[in-house]
Amino acid sequence: MAAITENIREIKKRIARAAAKSGRDPEAVELVAVTKTVGVEAALEALDAGALSLGESRVQEARNKYKAIGSKARWHLIGPLQKNKAKYCPGLFHLVHSVDNLELFIELSRQATRKGNLVRCLLQVNLSGEKQKSGCRAQEAEEIIKEASRLEGVKILGLMTVPPYSDDPEDSRPFFKELYQLSRRMEALGVENVTMDQISAGMTNDFEVAVEEGATIVRVGSAIFGERT
Ligand SMILES: *Cc1c(COP(=O)(O)O)cnc(C)c1O
Repeated sequence: MAAITENIREIKKRIARAAAKSGRDPEAVELVAVTKTVGVEAALEALDAGALSLGESRVQEARNKYKAIGSKARWHLIGPLQKNKAKYCPGLFHLVHSVDNLELFIELSRQATRKGNLVRCLLQVNLSGEKQKSGCRAQEAEEIIKEASRLEGVKILGLMTVPPYSDDPEDSRPFFKELYQLSRRMEALGVENVTMDQISAGMTNDFEVAVEEGATIVRVGSAIFGERT
């Protein structure tokens, strides 16, 4: 189990190196340790090793782990969110990375205002056009952002993407560049109540390239906890 602590230390070093290489502040990159399918004990070890943020793909799994671990972790939802699970998000998640349509923003807003809460969100963008992948199209981002900005109880803080899987991290670079450029264009719109400070990009296989291309949040699972079975 000590491996987890060691892995986190190593990944933080690699993040710092990638940041330095591109003239960025390593402190400006947040590591989300992806604990999906991982047990509570391993998640606690990651926390002890200084991974403050934990990422889950499913709301139910996040709720279960929250019961055991509580708010000493910052919980991130990184997997697709179904509308009927939106009610669990306010007060549970520090950040929902995976909102990709206006209806979902509307439902999150409804649930958040009912609870007098605020849900911090990223807009997930599908830049590859892969059909099985979540995310709005880049051309839809502006309209969704403008509409969602009027809703109470939700706040958009930036963009998220998942490029097609590849063994070669360089294959992800064009997608990360595109996400960064989209984020700058969205920022230039100057939409009230919206900021574009966060870019969630990069996983085990490509997080260094993501940092080089401007990611402020990387989501790393198997490099910390081992291959998922
Ligand atoms: C599982 C998952 C990750 C982590 O994947 P690894 O390759 O294990 O680092 C990151 N982001 C999303 C959206 C995921 O579903």
